[in-house]
Amino acid sequence: MLYKVLEKNGYRDFVKSLISGFEFIGPVKKDRAVHDFKVIKDFKELDTAYIRTTIPPAKKILFPPDEELVCYEIGENIDVKPVVESGEKILFAINAWDINGMNFLDRVFTTDFIDDNYKAKRDKLIVIGMDTEPAETNFSPSVGAEFATGGFDLYMHDIGDRYFIRVATARGDGLLKRYAVVKDAERNDFKEYDRYMDNYRGRFKLDVDIKSFYDDFEVIYDKKEFWENAAKDCYSCGSCNLVCPTCFCFNVKDDMELNLKKGEKTREWDSCMIPDYGLVAGGHNFRPTKENRLKQRYRCKLKTFKEKYDRYACVGCGRCIEACLANINIAEDINSVKKEVSA
Ligand code: SF4
Ligand code: SF4
Repeated sequence: MLYKVLEKNGYRDFVKSLISGFEFIGPVKKDRAVHDFKVIKDFKELDTAYIRTTIPPAKKILFPPDEELVCYEIGENIDVKPVVESGEKILFAINAWDINGMNFLDRVFTTDFIDDNYKAKRDKLIVIGMDTEPAETNFSPSVGAEFATGGFDLYMHDIGDRYFIRVATARGDGLLKRYAVVKDAERNDFKEYDRYMDNYRGRFKLDVDIKSFYDDFEVIYDKKEFWENAAKDCYSCGSCNLVCPTCFCFNVKDDMELNLKKGEKTREWDSCMIPDYGLVAGGHNFRPTKENRLKQRYRCKLKTFKEKYDRYACVGCGRCIEACLANINIAEDINSVKKEVSA
């Protein structure tokens, strides 16, 4: 890792040259409370001061909600062609917990098998991180996701009259050399950065007892009343999955032309919280009730992947808490486990 410093008066020119040189995706204000990552053509559109988080999360760039995977033509032979779309892009001002969300998806899409579509996009995505203000629903430090140690090219920390930049890749270093006027960080820059980080960590107010949940999950697994109560108001709408930066379930469907000669396979985001998710041929549903589904969602996020990859499938962003019309709150549910087990 290299450490550089960019004076604030050089920031605008740096970003403007990135906007004119690349497909540049950054946070844009959508309404009073929500920002979204969009392609930006003009510096004025960029709004990095988002307090609440972006919806949908940046995973949409790597794993689009609706994506063609394969096209085929049926003649004498069957001609099948993979469709892999990717191009160099800059993703600017994504925060640490969302970078960690992408890092989790990297594991999912490149560990047991390589998902060519995902990997092609990820390899070409230049990631420039920037801290944002956590919402009151954010519990990233409890799951170790408030700071990113990798998964980006550059990470810019605002330390007052300058940015302290962590340079993680040669690609990031090349960008600075070409488009910015920076200098090597010196002792007083590091000191300022340390002060900044102490303050940054103090801004997260919500704490969840994740260890207790992890240890006690199997104890409460069969406590029907606990799960019925936790899921009683759930509408099975799936919003919590759609806004989540780490949810990756998808469905693949065939779209064939009426002449039955040509078609394509596309994948779409799916949701483990909707009743059809567990429905299989013959009409059996493995998770027929909302309490089954909520319990499975929590197990997947907070147990299964911790065991498989040694990281939670939750970065504590709080989006699902804000998106849920039934006020189902993953942070409260995690914290209620200890109480339930010791009751
Ligand atoms: S927990 Fe909330 S957001 Fe998720 S499916 Fe139920 S009602 Fe929808
Ligand atoms: S489960 Fe909720 S808090 Fe955790 S990463 Fe997904 S949306 Fe964020």
